[in-house]
Amino acid sequence: MESAPESGFPWPEGYRAAVAVTFDMDAESVMLAADPTLADRPSLMSHQRYGPVTGVPRLLRILADRDVRATFFIPGHSAERYPDAVAAILAAGHEVAHHGYLHENLVGASEADERRYLELGLKALDKVAGARPAGYRAPWWETTPRTLELLAEYGFAYDSSLFDRDIPYRIVTPTYSLVEIPVSWALDDWEKYAFWPGVTGSGVIEPPSAVLANWWEEVQAHEAEGGCCVLTMHPFLSGRPARARALDALLDRILERPGLWVATMGEIAGRLVM
Ligand SMILES: [Zn+2]
Repeated sequence: MESAPESGFPWPEGYRAAVAVTFDMDAESVMLAADPTLADRPSLMSHQRYGPVTGVPRLLRILADRDVRATFFIPGHSAERYPDAVAAILAAGHEVAHHGYLHENLVGASEADERRYLELGLKALDKVAGARPAGYRAPWWETTPRTLELLAEYGFAYDSSLFDRDIPYRIVTPTYSLVEIPVSWALDDWEKYAFWPGVTGSGVIEPPSAVLANWWEEVQAHEAEGGCCVLTMHPFLSGRPARARALDALLDRILERPGLWVATMGEIAGRLVM
């Protein structure tokens, strides 16, 4: 029996830390939100389409082989465009969560706009997935001072857009209550792999072996600290062969550690139900 986690977080009996495997199935939306004229660049659009068309099936196979359930944050626009991918994700038992409608950046958004993005995203997921998501991740991890309260008003159980802790926590104010599951840019594959000349990325594309080594370091440190390690990946990036193979290897290592609880974001938020 391992010692109790440093963090004091109430992980399930026998576990000292958690790993959440999450994917943002952005597809074209993340580009179109930044600049609608990018729709006229078929090569760039196809780079994004790789996610739902080729990446998701490969990633679902890897998750099924390991019996790991993941959380997929899906913009409403991407859900409507790729209903088959959403159906496959749900059929495999994974969690589907809200990620805006057209992956809108909330910086400077009005309350009316913010409500509209939430409602459009909910409507799309209801239509395509028949599901009311419990979780939300702000596109670009950018929120407004009113985002969390709006999420609570719309019935969400958790958000995953803030950066201030290593463990999930409950935000309680006089007007609302919501679970926050914090994230880290160091655990986001965008920083490792994304590149389109003039659109995104530094031009340095990291080898999957380096990302595997980096993330394994992160997982081990989270395990030591009793934290919650939230891997954030994109099917158009991490769904490519060598990168998917690196994820496969990382999952093997994680699953060999008996003290690590591999869970969906919804399951992790559930540890803080009031
Ligand atoms: Zn995204």
